[in-house]
Amino acid sequence: MSDTGGLAAPPAVTYPTVYAPPAAPLAGTDLDPPLRALDRHCRELSEGMREAGAAVDRDPDAIAGLLHLPAVGFQAQGSLPPEYRDTGAHPAGPVQASASSLGWAVTAERLAYGDAGVLLACPGPSLSGLAVEALADDAQRTAYYERVTSAPTWTFFGLTEPRKGSAAMELETSLAPDDDGTLVLNGEKRYVGTAARAQTGVVFCRRAPGPWGIEAVLLDTAQQGFEAELLPMVGLRGARISHIRLTDLRVRPEQVLGRHRPPSRRGLYGALHVLYRGRPGIAGMALGVTQAVCDYTAAHRPAMPASARGRLDGVLDRAAALRRLVHTVAGEIDHGVVDVPRIGAVKSRAAALAEETTLLAAELLGPASLIEHPWLEKAYRDVRAFEYMEGTGAVHRLSVFHGLVKGDLLGSGPVPEPYVTPAGVSARAGGRSAG
Ligand SMILES: Cc1cc2nc3c(=O)[nH]c(=O)nc-3n(C[C@H](O)[C@H](O)[C@H](O)COP(=O)(O)OP(=O)(O)OC[C@H]3O[C@@H](n4cnc5c(N)ncnc54)[C@H](O)[C@@H]3O)c2cc1C
Repeated sequence: MSDTGGLAAPPAVTYPTVYAPPAAPLAGTDLDPPLRALDRHCRELSEGMREAGAAVDRDPDAIAGLLHLPAVGFQAQGSLPPEYRDTGAHPAGPVQASASSLGWAVTAERLAYGDAGVLLACPGPSLSGLAVEALADDAQRTAYYERVTSAPTWTFFGLTEPRKGSAAMELETSLAPDDDGTLVLNGEKRYVGTAARAQTGVVFCRRAPGPWGIEAVLLDTAQQGFEAELLPMVGLRGARISHIRLTDLRVRPEQVLGRHRPPSRRGLYGALHVLYRGRPGIAGMALGVTQAVCDYTAAHRPAMPASARGRLDGVLDRAAALRRLVHTVAGEIDHGVVDVPRIGAVKSRAAALAEETTLLAAELLGPASLIEHPWLEKAYRDVRAFEYMEGTGAVHRLSVFHGLVKGDLLGSGPVPEPYVTPAGVSARAGGRSAG
């Protein structure tokens, strides 16, 4: 099926397929040996992704014919519990190292250097797997992982709504009992990655008022009452964002994730857990494309005047500084410290730097650069999605502001309700969230 989502597909183009991802370690990194091995492995995987990127840009459903590429299978492996991994496909060390938040940031950066759209088009648990990990009981977990490992399975994570956008606590999709007591799901979700091509996924919905009235429900997209259509996308088309309509979809009790937990440890907790963990990965992707664009520019304009070279080096310096911060917040998450303003700050700065870098590259490569360099033109389109993924810059700046006002942006401080998470996790958040 063609995946134009209502827009004409970009023309067929040929990108330079020979490129040299920078050797490990990247500037700004200070990784331990397992993570350095992961970095090296992903660097190798990223070679050969650009042709796939061009194909996915033309038709995002082309990913179904690219499943043999090692980079496509790799990221799913790290998001599976060890007992569900395909031990023959990739070396166990890098797979295990990629399972942490820091490991995912490293993986995302290296693979996005190859192609961010391919990374997002891949089958696997992705964000829905994090929600299952955070919330599911044993039976739900087993059923989910058996499903996603039985065949290449695309999944989705449905949080954003047409009327409420990224305001997770205000979501309106409802889960209510009908006359015979069966729970029934009604509502809409918008901009949800892969939903129109997924087999299963998580939808966040409201069962009762207040923050603890939010539930996470695991759906099968073949269920009656589930409809999803692709939305037109200009860039990062592999993400296949979709509009979901849920109409009287009957939910069995075992589909409510975390049904064994108290309300304060169910839906919203699950959403926040996922979103915070996902943001360093988005920042990693943005840095990966930033680095790739800088390298591309240097390779295509080897005799650059010193002033131009200085501007490019300035971007690389900022990327290195941000990389260090991304690794710091991701490492903190892995140690149970979730500093929401700092996580949001690095994600939004990395997204902004990627946009700025494509503008600089277009300028340095000349007035017709976006016509003469189709790969750069694609990167230019792709990076503009990072601003929206996992929350816009405005929302993250608000969160930084709240962190500064409370005086806890750069250190420990009081944890406001209702974001009190289990022991050891300090979750400081603003009122809005994002998927
Ligand atoms: C490639 C891609 C993949 C995505 N994948 C998913 C997914 O898998 N699942 C999912 O649920 N969602 C997904 N999203 C949606 C994404 O999370 C939202 O686009 C994002 O959270 C912003 O929501 P919105 O677009 O509805 O904007 P809104 O939240 O409605 O915001 C609109 C504008 O108002 C500004 N704004 C909002 N609140 C405030 C405030 N309090 N103060 C000041 N300004 C404010 C915002 O900055 C923005 O400019 C994806 C988006 C993209 C681009």
